[in-house]
Amino acid sequence: MATVRLQGLAKRFGVVDAVKGVDLEIADHEFVVLVGPSGCGKSTILRMIAGLEDPSAGEIHIGADCVTHVPPKDRNIAMVFQNYALYPHMTVYRNMAFSLRARRMRRSEIDQRVRQAAAILELEELLDRRPAELSGGQRQRVAMGRAIVREPTVFLFDEPLSNLDAKLRHQMRAEIKKLHHRLRTTVIYVTHDQVEAMTLADRIVILKDGRIEQIGTPVDVYAQPANRFVAGFIGSPAMNFLAGRFRVDGDRVAVALESGPTWPLVQVPRGLVDGQAVTIGMRPCDLRPASDATPARQVLLGQVVVVEPLGDASLITVDIGGIGAVATIDGVVRLDPGMALNLAPRLSQIHLFDPTTGDRLT
Ligand code: ATP
Repeated sequence: MATVRLQGLAKRFGVVDAVKGVDLEIADHEFVVLVGPSGCGKSTILRMIAGLEDPSAGEIHIGADCVTHVPPKDRNIAMVFQNYALYPHMTVYRNMAFSLRARRMRRSEIDQRVRQAAAILELEELLDRRPAELSGGQRQRVAMGRAIVREPTVFLFDEPLSNLDAKLRHQMRAEIKKLHHRLRTTVIYVTHDQVEAMTLADRIVILKDGRIEQIGTPVDVYAQPANRFVAGFIGSPAMNFLAGRFRVDGDRVAVALESGPTWPLVQVPRGLVDGQAVTIGMRPCDLRPASDATPARQVLLGQVVVVEPLGDASLITVDIGGIGAVATIDGVVRLDPGMALNLAPRLSQIHLFDPTTGDRLT
């Protein structure tokens, strides 16, 4: 059983509170991604799980064992880092066999494990090469092979793909996902890249300033962000935020901007009163060009600032009353800076947040 349980886990470096009491339960076989901006404490959490950093408070449990003060080598975990740190003078085979040799494992068993890992990672043809004779993606696979041969109960990945170019990153992401399906080992994976987090995770843990902001499946955190921070962090391009007010008129409930546009609410939050300030969140993909069928009150009058063609869609930055908003429009658009572009949100996809606390209003 390779469940991982963190209980009140904290780390202080001098005056810096890097991790401020994290509680997290990771199920056996689960792929959990820790994501957040630089300095939020994700690597420190991973390093504490690995035993490379001593917690200032709290406990770490792997399976039935409390491992908080157990040395790294006795935790049955394997870690893959951003800089693969392969031994340059050793062949791929010897790099992969190194930790098993250090454990004085039998030669035949080492050979079997290395060849099995090489088969899984399609490295069989490369076993006699040295790291300098490999591409970045191949080196990353050797680093993973080195972790696999140890047959750990938990894999820890610390930004393993950030040194690779975009295409290779995409390819390796798919490889890691396949690997997880095949090995069914518990994985804890750290990244600052929300696309990596969304595509790999069973559950995502979003961190900020040493604290967990939300834990959920990729779909949950995208569709129901717990607060404005998560809403702005997950999803690319980022969600647009506009200051508005809640309007109640008899049975009708809406949100409105000072400048006039008003949108009836499909999901009505509880406990709000007429006139109360709200932050309105709209994802770029939920902002559409207004059509003749759009009621005039729902139209956001805008002026194009920047057009960024992506091929299958275009990102349009629009000035709406002095505020920049981004809309994703399908296909190739014929728009130039300065042109008028009127937009309307998909009413079912409007998010509301408390302007003071940032919490989602549901
Ligand atoms: P990044 O994505 O930039 O790697 P991160 O979320 O992984 O960031 P950590 O490396 O965990 O962040 O660092 C969390 C905080 O702790 C940061 O403010 C960092 O400066 C601080 N920190 C990390 N290691 C040490 C250390 N050994 N000594 C002092 N401060 C540290």
